[in-house]
Amino acid sequence: MEFKGESIIKFNEAFPDDKACLSYLAEIKWNEGYQCKKCGHDKFTVRKKNLARDCNRCHHIESPTAGTLFHRVRFGVRKAFGIVFEMSATTKGLSSSQVARRYEISRPTAWGFMHKVRKAMESSHNHPLEGAVQVDEFVYGGKETLKQGRSKDTRKKKLIGAVELTEEGKVKRAYFQKIVDYSSQSLESIFKDHIGDNAQVLTDKWTGYGPLAETYQIEQKYSDKGGSMKQIHTIIHQLKSWLRSVYSWVHEQHISKYLDEFSFRLNRSLFKPSIFHRLIERMSRAKPITYQMIKISN
Ligand SMILES: [Zn+2]
Repeated sequence: MEFKGESIIKFNEAFPDDKACLSYLAEIKWNEGYQCKKCGHDKFTVRKKNLARDCNRCHHIESPTAGTLFHRVRFGVRKAFGIVFEMSATTKGLSSSQVARRYEISRPTAWGFMHKVRKAMESSHNHPLEGAVQVDEFVYGGKETLKQGRSKDTRKKKLIGAVELTEEGKVKRAYFQKIVDYSSQSLESIFKDHIGDNAQVLTDKWTGYGPLAETYQIEQKYSDKGGSMKQIHTIIHQLKSWLRSVYSWVHEQHISKYLDEFSFRLNRSLFKPSIFHRLIERMSRAKPITYQMIKISN
């Protein structure tokens, strides 16, 4: 079974309890058959309580959550599924304190788990933007009124975005990154990570893009108060208002993760009904991470 759609009613019907969720995870985990992690044997007995598989030869026990991002979720898989469902369905901000209240868990627990979901939202870097692409750099946070460059406001983040357009000129996909400055070297990272070699890239007149034109096909236009790159400016505007709703100074060092979350949903807006399933799949195949690892990573 693959859960599809955005209906909370259908979601609750499909996942009434922990067991239903564990069974969903078991199906994903062993969809190509079971093999004992310890001895390689392929026969097992299912434990009723948590649907763990007990190897018939060496009795090594593996639960559906072991070795995944659901590993040791203390508040139960059902609540975890609920949070994943909401994060996959909502385009509005969902803060960790809201999630904490709605799922009756502590705020740090909600925050930690939501970052695990964001971990699964990270780009695979396997689908570079192609065709007509717009790239622009911008700032987020701090005092918006301060002039660029002169700002000593350390809360202001320098970011860069790239969007791919459809033939009709609509936004198809987008990626964002944090950068340390506006040098060519810093600007290049989004090109390396997310832009195909044959993309036709449009940027503003900033000199930092100049050297990149040796490797990429770049056309530089005067920004004309944003008029020449309307699509990327619209998306940047959406990103900023979304960030304002989910993200506070507490999360500052983690901005990259929020950028990934925004892109993940945006880039799949054409496949909305399957976002939840894809996300559960990714979480089930990702290696577990701890709260400590989330806190120090950036
Ligand atoms: Zn075994």
